[in-house]
Amino acid sequence: MPTGLIVTGGSRGIGAATARLAAGRGFRVCVNYARDAQAAETVVTAIRAAGGTAVGVQADIGTERGVRDLFDAAEAAIGPVRALVNNAGITGPIGRFETVETETLRRVLDVNVLGSMLCAREAVRRFGDQGGAIVNLSSVAATTGAAGEYVHYAASKAAVDAFTLGLAREVAGRGIRVNAVAPGSTLTDIHAAAGEPDRPARVRSRIPLQRLAEPEEIAEAVVWLLSDAASYVTGTVLRVAGGF
Ligand code: NAP
Repeated sequence: MPTGLIVTGGSRGIGAATARLAAGRGFRVCVNYARDAQAAETVVTAIRAAGGTAVGVQADIGTERGVRDLFDAAEAAIGPVRALVNNAGITGPIGRFETVETETLRRVLDVNVLGSMLCAREAVRRFGDQGGAIVNLSSVAATTGAAGEYVHYAASKAAVDAFTLGLAREVAGRGIRVNAVAPGSTLTDIHAAAGEPDRPARVRSRIPLQRLAEPEEIAEAVVWLLSDAASYVTGTVLRVAGGF
C-alpha cells in the first residue's frame, strides 16, 4: 500500500512542491495549511488531476490540539501515516534583533520548534514499531545566524537541527529515520511575508551559484530523504543551498 504522508504547510512554496512531487512518486498526501484554503485546494486539485491521492486539512501546527486533529483527519482520509515533512515555518518581520516583538519571538518558536516537535511526537507515537520517515525543514540560517535579518529564526532552525539528530538516534532502532533539509534562499512567498518581497534580488549575488533555489529543487532532496533510496541516511542535515 502506498505510504501516507503529511506535509505541514503544504499549500505554498517548498511544502506545495514537496506535496506534488511526493504524490507523483506514489505517496498519499495530506496537504496541511493554516489560513489559505484556496491555495491548499489548488495543490490537492493538481495532485488528483495527475492521478494521485491528496486531501487538504486546516490545522495550526503550533498547538497540541491542532496537531492531534491534523493526524486524525489525515488518517481518516488517506490511511495510516508513515511519513511526515515538518515544513510549516515562519520568520516574522525582517529586522535587527532589538526591534523584534516578544509576540513574534513566541510565535516563531511555537511554529518552527514546538510545532515541529509536536508533529514529530505524534508521528513517532503513531508509527509504533512499523517504521517511518520524518524530514524537518531547517535553513542555512541555522549556521549563518542571519544577522540583521532574523536571528531568532536562525536560532529556531538550529534547534530543529539538534532535534533532528537527537530524535534520529533515539528512534533508529524502531526503523524510523529522521533527517533535515537546510535550504538556502528559495523563491517562495516567505520573503514577502517577512516584509521584503525583493529580498531575492538583494541576496542573489552572495550565493555561490548566483541564483535562488526553485521550490522544486528543495522538494527533490526532501522526497529523496523520505524514500527507501535513503534507507541508510538518518540524523543528517542536508544543505541544499547553492554552495552556501
Ligand atoms: P511559505 O511559502 O511562506 O509557506 C509557508 C507554509 O506554511 C504555508 O503553506 C502556510 O500556510 C504554512 N503555515 C504557516 N504557519 C502555519 C501553522 N501555524 N500551521 C500550519 N501551517 C502553517 O514558506 P516556504 O518559503 O515554502 O518555507 C517552507 C519551509 O522552508 C519553512 O520551514 C522555512 O523556514 C524553510 N526555509 C525556507 C527558505 C526560503 O528561502 N523560502 C529558506 C530556508 C528554509 P498558510 O498559507 O495557510 O498560512
